[in-house]
Amino acid sequence: MSAKHDTLSLGIDLGGTKILTAVANTQGDMLSRDHSITPAKEGQEAVVKSILESVGRALDQARISAPDLTAVGVGAPGLSNPETGILFTSPNLPGWKDVPLRDIIEKELGKKAFLINDANAAAVGELYFGAGRGARNFIYITVSTGIGGGIIIDGKIYTGSIGTAGELGHMVISDEGPLCNCGNRGCWEVLASGTALAREARIKTKDGVTSSILQLAGGDLEKINAEVIHEAAQAGDSLANELIARTAYYLGVGLANLINIFNPEVIIIGGGLSNIGDMLLKPAFEEAGRRAFKPAYQAVRFARAELGRNSGVLGAAAFALEKTTNNKEGGAK
Ligand SMILES: [Zn+2]
Repeated sequence: MSAKHDTLSLGIDLGGTKILTAVANTQGDMLSRDHSITPAKEGQEAVVKSILESVGRALDQARISAPDLTAVGVGAPGLSNPETGILFTSPNLPGWKDVPLRDIIEKELGKKAFLINDANAAAVGELYFGAGRGARNFIYITVSTGIGGGIIIDGKIYTGSIGTAGELGHMVISDEGPLCNCGNRGCWEVLASGTALAREARIKTKDGVTSSILQLAGGDLEKINAEVIHEAAQAGDSLANELIARTAYYLGVGLANLINIFNPEVIIIGGGLSNIGDMLLKPAFEEAGRRAFKPAYQAVRFARAELGRNSGVLGAAAFALEKTTNNKEGGAK
């Protein structure tokens, strides 16, 4: 059977460092996948040009052209409005302000396009093709350099009144905590992300706390990262274990908030830091259990994300298909 007879959609996952583009069908099978670098420092025009080149390669690889697509979905970092297709601002794309990204892509490809926040797209990806299949209400979080999230309510991504909902990483956990990139203090991501873990390790190392972390980082403070700390912890390093326990504690505090507010069926956890596994996640879930309301905690299940790096691109593609189908039928999928 030719791919041209399938319902196909194109997903674009625009990140601060990379662009992932894929042609996918309704089952989440990828007919093609293109990976390239985001020229973020060269500005908006250069980035848009790179996106279009990546789209061209993805279409060629799938042996189709733009008219064969049903829809195009763009997942982008930062605050955006899916209704208007405007990307308000993005911490990863310096200089971008109120960019009509959806319309730019739509015009260039001659195809209906949809814009969604990248972590929200990842949540939609897990909803259709990953750990969220079959769940109606869940929270997705991705813990890496920051903490991103997506809220699925009644089988749909919740985007709020102007589209900026789901910034879970910026819920305030400690009002006088460390300064966050967003300008606030003590946000969840400034306490429980991989960046936070590495920062604390550097502070303790500079203070002269005995540990194998610095040695494992080749003696370079700047090379201290979550992987090195995890490695040290596995080898029994007490500082590394203490730092991971601290991160788990804050992770658990945030999870308790989410459980109390949303009463989700599942909390799906992805992102590089979650690769630490039980050493981090088990104490985090236990801390959440000490803080959340019992019935809500007993009802929630924790799951690891299943789509890895493809969650965003598949979610963007699925979001576009969902929107197109809904617009045509004027109802639920
Ligand atoms: Zn913040």
